[in-house]
Amino acid sequence: MSDSKKPIFVTQPHLPPLAELIPLLEEIWDSKVLTNGGPFHQRLEAALADYLGVPQVALFSNGTLALITALQALRVTGEVITTPFSFVATAHALLWHGNKPVFADIDPKTLNLDPAKIETAITPQTTAIMPVHCYGRPCDVAAIERIADTYNLRVIYDAAHAFGVRDAAGSVLNHGDLSVLSFHATKVFNTFEGGAIVCADAKTKARIDQLKNFGHAGETTVVAPGINGKMSEFNAALGLLQLRHVDEAIRRRGEIDALYRARLRDVTGIHCLGDGGEAFANHAYFPILVRDDYALSRDELNQALRDHGVMPRRYFYPLIAEFPMYRGLPSAQRENLPVAWTAARQVLCLPIYPDLPIESAERIAQFIASR
Ligand SMILES: *Cc1c(COP(=O)(O)O)cnc(C)c1O
Repeated sequence: MSDSKKPIFVTQPHLPPLAELIPLLEEIWDSKVLTNGGPFHQRLEAALADYLGVPQVALFSNGTLALITALQALRVTGEVITTPFSFVATAHALLWHGNKPVFADIDPKTLNLDPAKIETAITPQTTAIMPVHCYGRPCDVAAIERIADTYNLRVIYDAAHAFGVRDAAGSVLNHGDLSVLSFHATKVFNTFEGGAIVCADAKTKARIDQLKNFGHAGETTVVAPGINGKMSEFNAALGLLQLRHVDEAIRRRGEIDALYRARLRDVTGIHCLGDGGEAFANHAYFPILVRDDYALSRDELNQALRDHGVMPRRYFYPLIAEFPMYRGLPSAQRENLPVAWTAARQVLCLPIYPDLPIESAERIAQFIASR
């Protein structure tokens, strides 16, 4: 199907022109400041707060350490309600911080946590909710806020997919107590590896900055068992470059999204997930559900595409709740998660990235439509 023999992966990292990087590298070489909150780190934090429309950004070396530190910053204890339909790092962060993950089922339309299911999962040990804006589609943030207020729970959004996503009120990252971003190579905005915590005020950011630097509060004072989660100057410089090009990258993703949506709309048994409605979408993923009335099963379609050099991904199959370290939990049982269980067996994420030729997306859509 592809003209060249090169496989088409589900995503391909977007890179700025190398020539733009050289002057920034020269600055680092001249200053010899390599990390520990250097000038690029400070510039990227300010630039991201401005671009995203959020009060405070604390950079991290990756999103997983940012998730763990977010839990530590809020002193989250006991049980945390989360989604089984996510990348495994969401629940792993809870285990690393000594919390008990409690899985609640998802909404069949958005594949985000179902607020009604969150509410029934609350016990006296529940202290927080960790929802995911899955594929960059905003959660029902209003309902989650109501539940959090009613039961006095903290909310940490795993916003790893939600870079740049806005709703009517502004950045979706402004909801909850904290939001966590990932800048991994596969994400819409990348620093090769990287992440961030978005928070509301300078005092919270100061605590987070201590925790990501071993808990240091000054030269001779350590106030908490913090981790090394600092982003290096190299990654921060890359981030500043990527930021120059991210609007264009999201625009190109949007063209591919629109093409798939138009070509697959009337294909029996193929359902394209909603585009996020009112929200400004980032087109991070293009998930389809392959239902029983399609000509092939989801796994058969996955294989047929692979045989033609296209590598979709079954995000998120298996569910986090199916992995060995989680499957013994009462909340991980299939009966508790019927919507998530079905979605995991129907979903297929199609290739979408800025440099994907529109003709390739056209051929992928035709291939799916002609089975
Ligand atoms: C990518 C991702 C993470 C982890 O981010 P890293 O930067 O790779 O550590 C966490 N949660 C979700 C939902 C992700 O997609």
